[in-house]
Amino acid sequence: MEPKLIDGRAISAAVKADVARDVTEFTQQTGVIPGLAVIIVGDDPASCVYVRNKCRACRETGIASFEIALPKETTEEVLLREIDTLNRRADVHGILVQLPLPRHIREEVVLRAISPDKDVDGFHPVNMGFLLSGRPRFAPCTPAGVMELLDRCGISVDGMHCVVIGRSNIVGKPMAQLLLARNATVTVCHSHTEDLPFYTRSADLLVAAVGKPRFVCADMVKDGAVVIDVGINRLSEGLCGDVDFATVSAKASAITPVPGGVGPMTIAMLMKNTLLAARLLACPPVEPRA
Ligand code: NAD
Repeated sequence: MEPKLIDGRAISAAVKADVARDVTEFTQQTGVIPGLAVIIVGDDPASCVYVRNKCRACRETGIASFEIALPKETTEEVLLREIDTLNRRADVHGILVQLPLPRHIREEVVLRAISPDKDVDGFHPVNMGFLLSGRPRFAPCTPAGVMELLDRCGISVDGMHCVVIGRSNIVGKPMAQLLLARNATVTVCHSHTEDLPFYTRSADLLVAAVGKPRFVCADMVKDGAVVIDVGINRLSEGLCGDVDFATVSAKASAITPVPGGVGPMTIAMLMKNTLLAARLLACPPVEPRA
């Protein structure tokens, strides 16, 4: 059986085209241009590339972008003041702080300072709570991108056994919640899991978010499984995922490559979340009374 290659580049372009169309319509109706502020502290080369790509995606989709570049010596207090200003700005609907931050700044304090209404990365405890309650508002962009890939490929996880390797707040945990919200049976594995292959071999859908090159090999995968590789590992010969693509693709019914799978989806979902933030701020939903 030929595995179906899930083309993240093409699907990401389709999502961005949809967002661009919806932004035009939203702006015509409301006069509001959705705006995304991206804060970067320091000059880490990988972070600079990510920020540049995010601002480029904003231009492609008609979203206004505001890049705030701060020196690496910036204190936590100054960064918090910057966030407070952005929280109050009417032309900023989404705020993103590029991670990682310099070691002297506490990440959890900074992420909590972002208004939950503008938290387009979905890392604020309030938005994590929405996700946990099964009513995601701003779902973290990478796992949300995985769900978008599955949806656009017509893969329903309802009733599937989905195994997620990794339990980070950015990928593994929200991934598990999004799958659960779609009626999957979810197992979360991590560095303390004993006999990992026992779990992965029973997965109808396997998500690898480990951060170890080619960690998932063919004998860990069931025949016909859907395999989603979130890993991005930089090796001297180039990028590679957490899945040994060469061997696993021979068993999988569908698989994401690295690069060109999950990676391109993250920014597309950031654009989608920014438009959602602008919509919610322009016309807040009426919450039913308790
Ligand atoms: P992380 O380091 O925070 O988490 C890794 C997880 O893997 C941990 O929960 C750990 O328990 C688990 N793990 C480690 N060793 C294991 C083992 N031997 N067996 C089972 N589990 C093990 O990483 P993260 O931020 O979740 O990122 C995971 C990968 O996804 C990385 O390669 C990262 O670069 C990539 N990533 C990609 C995107 C994107 O595509 N846009 C976004 C975020 C992260």
